[in-house]
Amino acid sequence: MSATLELFGEPLGAEPGEITRERAAIRGFLAEAKHSGLMATSCDSWMSGHSPEFSRELGRRGWIGMTWPRRYGGRDTSPSMRFAVIEELLAAGAPVAAHWFADRQIGPSLLRHGSAQQREFFLPRMSRGELYFSIGMSEPESGSDLSSVRTRAVPARDGWTVTGSKIWTSHAQHSHHLLTLVRTGDRGEKASTALTQMIVDLAQPGVTVRPIRTLDGREHFCEVFFDDVFVPSDRVLGTPGSGWKQVLGELGFERSGPERFLSTFPLLSAMARDGAAEPDFGHLVAQLVVLRSMSARVGKHLGDNEAPGVAAAVVKDLGTAFEQDTLDVAREWLSQHPAPDLAELFTQAQTHSPGFTLRGGASEIMRDIIARAEGLS
Ligand SMILES: Cc1cc2nc3c(=O)[nH]c(=O)nc-3n(C[C@H](O)[C@H](O)[C@H](O)COP(=O)(O)OP(=O)(O)OC[C@H]3O[C@@H](n4cnc5c(N)ncnc54)[C@H](O)[C@@H]3O)c2cc1C
Repeated sequence: MSATLELFGEPLGAEPGEITRERAAIRGFLAEAKHSGLMATSCDSWMSGHSPEFSRELGRRGWIGMTWPRRYGGRDTSPSMRFAVIEELLAAGAPVAAHWFADRQIGPSLLRHGSAQQREFFLPRMSRGELYFSIGMSEPESGSDLSSVRTRAVPARDGWTVTGSKIWTSHAQHSHHLLTLVRTGDRGEKASTALTQMIVDLAQPGVTVRPIRTLDGREHFCEVFFDDVFVPSDRVLGTPGSGWKQVLGELGFERSGPERFLSTFPLLSAMARDGAAEPDFGHLVAQLVVLRSMSARVGKHLGDNEAPGVAAAVVKDLGTAFEQDTLDVAREWLSQHPAPDLAELFTQAQTHSPGFTLRGGASEIMRDIIARAEGLS
């Protein structure tokens, strides 16, 4: 039994026995799920493979919110155990998008900043794969410069009234709630005290969700409009004014995971199966080994108070560059070794690739974060 992610039928590293057993369990489940038609392998499945049926099945088997406390539906496992499971899901190209944001960053944010009532309501439903969240940070004029968000919340009786809009909101048309960043401070006030995170029920009157069609003819992300939307006080995450600090911590979870370099793994794996071993391919495997090790290390520290933002930016920047390199090698390989299933994986990866270096923060911004930390900018 292999003890870690495989390429050429060979393990990429070694792991403790309990993780090997968990990998065997999830691999068994994934093989069954392919056989029964519950899933089909695709590239970029964490962003585009939205299947509530699959998410509920994973939740039923304890593979969502694995590191969360048992009282909230988790299993109290180590980050390494979760890393192995999500790596297997991504390597298999499984449709995990429905619960991805909830599992990756909303759950950890609720555990860190949420009230007892918020944790008790949201976490068990999320860990069962039944309640889905979207992330409402970016706005038409505020992407890289997130601190300039203009969606505004003003105090109302027992809560807030929110007005404004968000864009690029992945899967808002399917999600139940949105964790959004809004301006509650005075005009000219600094982001460090002027922004607040709020949980918006997407079925609330005044919310309009408009999906955007992408290159592949599908609708993965949306515009979201708020027209005097009421948000009760108990749906503020943390305290009013603490949103910016919280979001910076959350971005560590968003940028450092193995999805930042495994979107194209099904393609890489199919090339390995078909005999690819040229020098370029060896170079990809070497990068993959390094990225896995970096991402796993960052993952171990995500629970610490000091969010490893710089290390997460390194993983995101190098990881998405690796995904683009994989596409280049695959293009060359396919021109000499045509294979229909590989061509389909290539097309999926290619049509989604314009977003790889943008989502979660553009590469230039990652490099700026790294340079500043090194005193270079
Ligand atoms: C597939 C996909 C899914 C997404 N999902 C979500 C989601 O669910 N929720 C959400 O909130 N957001 C989401 N986003 C938005 C994403 O976070 C933004 O696209 C990203 O932060 C860049 O912002 P922008 O698109 O406004 O581009 P801009 O900020 O306008 O940047 C455009 C270009 O200018 C460059 N640039 C900007 N500022 C600088 C600078 N200071 N120095 C050097 N270069 C600079 C950038 O590198 C970029 O190439 C998603 C994006 C994609 C592609």
